[in-house]
Order: sequence, then C-alpha cells, then structure tokens
Amino acid sequence: YAKNSGNGLHVYDKGLDANETPERLALTAELRQGISTGQLEVYVQPQASLRTGMVLGVEALVRWRHPRHGLLFPDTFIPLAERNGLIPQLTDAVLEQAVAACGRWRRAGHRLTVSVNLSARSNLNETLIENVQSLLNRHGVPAKSLILEITESSVIRDPARTQIVLDQLHSLGVGLSIDDFGTGYSSLSYLRQLPVQEVKIDKSFVMNMLAEPNDAAIVRSIVDLGTNLRLAVVAEGVEDAATRAELQRMGCSNMQGFFLAAPMPLDSFMDWLAAREGHLAEAR
Ligand code: C2E
Ligand code: MG
Ligand code: MG
Ligand code: MG
Repeated sequence: YAKNSGNGLHVYDKGLDANETPERLALTAELRQGISTGQLEVYVQPQASLRTGMVLGVEALVRWRHPRHGLLFPDTFIPLAERNGLIPQLTDAVLEQAVAACGRWRRAGHRLTVSVNLSARSNLNETLIENVQSLLNRHGVPAKSLILEITESSVIRDPARTQIVLDQLHSLGVGLSIDDFGTGYSSLSYLRQLPVQEVKIDKSFVMNMLAEPNDAAIVRSIVDLGTNLRLAVVAEGVEDAATRAELQRMGCSNMQGFFLAAPMPLDSFMDWLAAREGHLAEAR
C-alpha cells in the first residue's frame, strides 16, 4: 500500500514506514534483499530441564550477517522489519532453518524441541498455519517438536485474531509459549483463554533475582502460577549456578541462559551437545 504520512510525504515502496530516516530506509531495503538472498542466520540457545539436567530443545534466535556491518543482533533489525512489513518473510526464513535442523537432529537420534519467536506484528493468519504444516511435513518433524513463542504485546494487539490463529496452531499439535512473561499487561486472563503449554519468565526478573527480593517474588509467583496451571515454566537469563539452584528450589521446570550456553550457530549445536553429554558422563 502507498502510505500518506499526513505531512504530504508519500512513500511509494510497498509497506515502507514514512517516518523512517533515510539511513533506516536504506537498511530496510538491504534487509528485504538480505532475507531473500539468505543473509539471515539462525543461532540456537539450548534449554534444559531443571529436574534432570537433560537438554530438551533449543530456541532459534535470528542474526543478520550483513555484508558490511557484520553480524547484527535482532534488536537492530526486528523493529525495522516490524515497521516495514518484513516480518512474514523473516519468520518464514527462521522457521525454515529451525524446522529443517530439528528434522536433521531427529534423524541423528535426538528428539529435541525447537522454539521460534513470532513477532508482535506477526503473520498470525491462514498463511502461517499452512506454512507451518507444510514445513513440518517436508522435514519430517512432528508438530509437538515445534514451539511458537508469542509475547503478551502480540496478544494485546489483536486478541480475537490471535485467539483464532493460536487455536488452529494448537489443533495442528504445535506447542505455544508466552515469552517475556511478566513484562506485559493482563497476562492472567490470556493464560486462561489461550491454548498455551509454556510460559517463559522474562530474563530481567531472573538475572537479578538473587539480589532483588522483589524480582525473586515475581519469579516465585510465576513459577507457582505456571505450575498450578500445569504449564512448563522456562526461566530465561540464568547466568550462574546459584540462580539455577534457587530456581530448582522454587520448582521451576526448565532453564535457558548463559550458564547453560550462549546462543550458538545452528551447525555448532550437535558438537556442543556431544561435549556436554561427555562431561556429564565423566562426572558420573
Ligand atoms: P527473547 O525471545 O526473549 O530471547 C532471549 C534473549 O535473551 C536472546 O537475545 C538471548 O541471547 C538473550 N539471553 C539468553 N540467555 C541470556 C543470559 O543468560 N543473559 C542475558 N543477558 N541474555 C540472555 P537475542 O538473541 O539478542 O534476541 C533478542 C530478542 O529478539 C528475542 O528475545 C526476541 O524477542 C527477538 N528475536 C530473536 N529472534 C527472533 C526471530 O526469529 N523472530 C522474531 N520475531 N523475534 C526474534
Ligand atoms: Mg523468545
Ligand atoms: Mg524472552
Ligand atoms: Mg525478549
């Protein structure tokens, strides 16, 4: 759509936000090009059970290998993609790499889940559902191995639409998770309505929970709430052994964070897993 910014300035490029600076418009054009030429790379960060220590799966985290600027983190380009209509293409690229990897790992004997982030402005529509279904078929991945992470803000943006699409994804058997839990609004009513199986405690609470009693109280409340609703509770941003121990004590089910591993290139993950299993075997 051609957009009129209201100040007489017309932007004719499809979906471009008229409020972007020239630099950002240039970066947006590069991003569109970069997505279609395979410059997006998926990094993965492992998640482990706090009860057994077993690695259960990974979260896919997108990076942009920019030809001049090097490896860019999502906070530098996701907002740009959101404002300029590039999220559907970006999500498709990440889903493709993540589900393909999950299929390869599966054939190598590892039953792991892979979690993919949907943006607040995601393509929560029929096309997403069809894409997900055909991806799973093509790569021989059971629906329950894919977990889609949504944020509370995406739910708030369009609750009715979100409900319909999440219900459909749920009937496919895909797992659904609420990301950055505790940072949004009205989270409790959504937890009751939406077909989610997991909540992820935002890392801002977890990272300071040993020093900040208020953060610890929030973490404990989310763990209790999630447990009572029979949801998996993932603590993000676990950076040290003491935090892990405290989360275990609270009864939190899973962890993700630098203490386990930082996000790594997709192709390094099998080596990381083998090394970890080696260490665990030695320790026994
Ligand atoms: P998120 O989904 O909440 O992902 C967790 C972020 O926390 C990641 O940052 C991860 O690297 C970081 N993190 C993990 N463990 C620790 C830790 O122990 N300490 C600290 N300080 N940080 C930790 P990253 O990769 O920069 O991603 C930032 C955000 O960008 C993500 O937050 C997610 O909202 C968004 N994002 C990433 N990939 C995608 C994607 O493919 N699509 C969309 N729509 N958004 C994405
Ligand atoms: Mg996430
Ligand atoms: Mg998060
Ligand atoms: Mg986040």
